[in-house]
Amino acid sequence: MFTLIQLPYALDKLEPIISAQTLSFHHGKHLQTYVDNLNRLIVGTDYEQMSLEDIVCKANGGIFNNAGQILNHNLYFTQFKEVSQNQESEIDNLAIGKAIIRDFGSYDNFKSEFEKAGTALFGSGWVWLAADKDGKLIITQETNAGNPLTKGLRPLLTMDVWEHAYYLDYQNRRAAHLQALWAIINWQEVSRRYTA
Ligand code: MN
Repeated sequence: MFTLIQLPYALDKLEPIISAQTLSFHHGKHLQTYVDNLNRLIVGTDYEQMSLEDIVCKANGGIFNNAGQILNHNLYFTQFKEVSQNQESEIDNLAIGKAIIRDFGSYDNFKSEFEKAGTALFGSGWVWLAADKDGKLIITQETNAGNPLTKGLRPLLTMDVWEHAYYLDYQNRRAAHLQALWAIINWQEVSRRYTA
């Protein structure tokens, strides 16, 4: 049985970037539904014994969609920390920061490329920073429940561009939402994923 992850911060701690109301629905309703659906769909199948990562790489249809959404949201919700604790400048001293400079030229250029990919993604999906087997960083666009794992890449950082992630706070202004999220990224966690 898969369970709903606990958030590593209180519901109101990502305000004003993500409101407590958005977080409450996104985590407590949307993610809970994916967890309930997957648990129902895998009863009596080999997937009952697999990790989310293995399910995402092997399944299709409803099992892939719900497992993918759980894995994606688990990575998404655990990559944030409260605004008051966030030091974007700390990225310079982290392995992920050095890799971003190497592969994108500058942190500002990386952010701009990432926001552009997220804004241009048509419909629902996720924009990702991922690493290939040599540690080279790549930005990918994935539709619906997609995850770069299925392309042999390691997922490091993601922004959810399904409307449920931002509509209550930003309405149709997806680009403004993506631009605001940098203020709550926990770069130590992203760097840990990169060096793991
Ligand atoms: Mn979502």
